[in-house]
Amino acid sequence: MDVLEKAYEILSKYPLCDNCLGRQFALLGYSMENNVRGNALKVSLTMQANDLSQEKKVEGTKRLKILASKGFSREAQETLKHLKKRQAKDNDALRCCLCDGKFELVDSLTQNALQVIKGYEFTTFLVGIELPLQVEEREDEFKAAVNVGYGESMKHEFGRLLGKAVAKHTGKEVDYLKPDIVFVFNPFLESVRLQVNPLFVAGRYRKLVRTIPQSKWFCSSCRGRGCEKCGGTGKLYPESVEELSSKPLLEVTLGEEAFLHASGREDIDARMLGTGRPFVIEVSKPKKRFVNLKQIEAQVNASAVGKVEVSGLRFTTRDVVRHLKNGEGAQKEYQLIAEFENDPSEKDLRTIEEKLSGICIKQQTPLRVLHRRADLIREKYIYQVKVKKVSLKRVLMEIRCQGGLYVKELVSGDEGRTNPNVSDLLNNRAKTLKLDVLNVIME
Ligand SMILES: [Zn+2]
Ligand SMILES: [Zn+2]
Repeated sequence: MDVLEKAYEILSKYPLCDNCLGRQFALLGYSMENNVRGNALKVSLTMQANDLSQEKKVEGTKRLKILASKGFSREAQETLKHLKKRQAKDNDALRCCLCDGKFELVDSLTQNALQVIKGYEFTTFLVGIELPLQVEEREDEFKAAVNVGYGESMKHEFGRLLGKAVAKHTGKEVDYLKPDIVFVFNPFLESVRLQVNPLFVAGRYRKLVRTIPQSKWFCSSCRGRGCEKCGGTGKLYPESVEELSSKPLLEVTLGEEAFLHASGREDIDARMLGTGRPFVIEVSKPKKRFVNLKQIEAQVNASAVGKVEVSGLRFTTRDVVRHLKNGEGAQKEYQLIAEFENDPSEKDLRTIEEKLSGICIKQQTPLRVLHRRADLIREKYIYQVKVKKVSLKRVLMEIRCQGGLYVKELVSGDEGRTNPNVSDLLNNRAKTLKLDVLNVIME
């Protein structure tokens, strides 16, 4: 292919700016921008046409006029003037047929982005480009017609130019996978909007009381709007681990909402002791990211004292949330007080330890959660059960098992839905009085 001839052939049919002509040949030559390529082609064509006009006046002048009008070439215009030829018509009305001249807006779009981002802290960003459908269609038709094969798309060039400009002005880095911020530019609407990605903070929590749920629990009467029954709060419980552990972080980051993702959950009336349960707090649309987590940890522990404690707060990523959710089946250690109808004997206690250690139990979805969980039979492994008498009818049980096992039902039997179970093994009905989670073992 004669690159120059091809460029002239294109220009004789389509008015193109330097960027749009240059990017048709984007894969040719390194370390230059497409507007430089486009301008170089137009300048070379101008020189060629000037040379041609010495012998073939008509053809040379015709070429210069095309370069001046459809190529918007100042050099061709000036050359025509020098040759004392009638200059090409004022071509203000004529615009690049692909971009409408929008590549000239890269600087002002960048300035808009710098305005929009004021007040946001971020380390990494990405640029997204939205183009009107007819612009993309126009470009596709053009590509099919000229058939150069060295091109870069308009979207790609806008993305690259604006990405470079934003990086230069902010000193921040582009991250294609996990950017803090995405700038979405629409050069044709001359607009930019921000997509602020969430902030993730991991840690562990301990719950020291038997009265608060893990997550916000909306009032069943008003579903969160607030009614008489819930005193206008919209909530069934005034506090939750989610709110207590995330409030200071939400305030400091100026985020919109905070969510708690945890590796499993304990019942409201169960405490979470030991080293605590792993969790990740997700803060949506944070303005501040460079926050002092040690300070926030201390704030949570001071404001939720006696109820919830958090530890080991650190920045993390969305992947860890997925890992937590998958790890719901990780090993758990529980301790509970069980109360029997009749006094159990020492032999009964040994029976429980022997028959329930190192076995797989079958557990049908408990009656108490059936309204919100599918009715399934799950198999769960029990590693070890230890039993100790604490009073005539009461025992202390320690259970290490696969996560997701419903421990209260292991004791009661849940009307035969959990098998085997403590009540049936001893033919002596038992129920759980106090339940604590002692450990959540993550790999
Ligand atoms: Zn253009
Ligand atoms: Zn309500």
